[in-house]
Amino acid sequence: MFNFILFGPPGSGKGTQSVKIAEKYNLVHISTGDIFRKNIREKSPLGIKVQSIIEKGELVPDSLLIEILEDALQQHAKAKGFVFDGFPRTIQQAKDLDAMLARRKESVSLVLALEVGDDEILKRLLKRAEIEGRKDDTKEVIANRIEVYNTQTQPLINFYKDKKKFQSIDGLGGIDQIFTGICKLIDQHIK
Ligand code: AMP
Repeated sequence: MFNFILFGPPGSGKGTQSVKIAEKYNLVHISTGDIFRKNIREKSPLGIKVQSIIEKGELVPDSLLIEILEDALQQHAKAKGFVFDGFPRTIQQAKDLDAMLARRKESVSLVLALEVGDDEILKRLLKRAEIEGRKDDTKEVIANRIEVYNTQTQPLINFYKDKKKFQSIDGLGGIDQIFTGICKLIDQHIK
């Protein structure tokens, strides 16, 4: 299996690139943000629980993430591998993911970060707000999401560096150009 984590701040292009990667390498794309938004739209018990947290730009509690991931892994038991997009976002989630994969005799194959600076992120997210109207793309909430990323998610870089699984790539440029760079790195790691 090839278990790939696309890592980066909000607005770094993870969603766009993840879809392309999943398609090219025949992997299952798991976006925890998409899963939450679907649940909010459907007003499911999970959606009702997480709605106000997401609208504030805070992180959903780790315990809920394990449930969602366990569910997704079970649903796709025959998958060739996964592209994780927006997960893990805390050290605890990364440890939980390791444990979940280990139970299946699997592990994280590669973590690739899209590097984009704060100013560019702010610009991109404000533009996305106009197009998609996401409730968590207001200026105030964006600032909080960047802060949450810097304090709670960035420590994962060292976590995966220690495991020699971390690589990064410039997230500025055209979609296809960045995709080509990502594919080159994946091709060096995929069996
Ligand atoms: P995203 O679409 O990945 O930016 O996620 C949108 C929002 O969903 C985030 O700002 C969080 O509130 C929540 N969320 C998504 N993934 C996670 C995660 N792995 N851990 C905690 N909260 C998450």
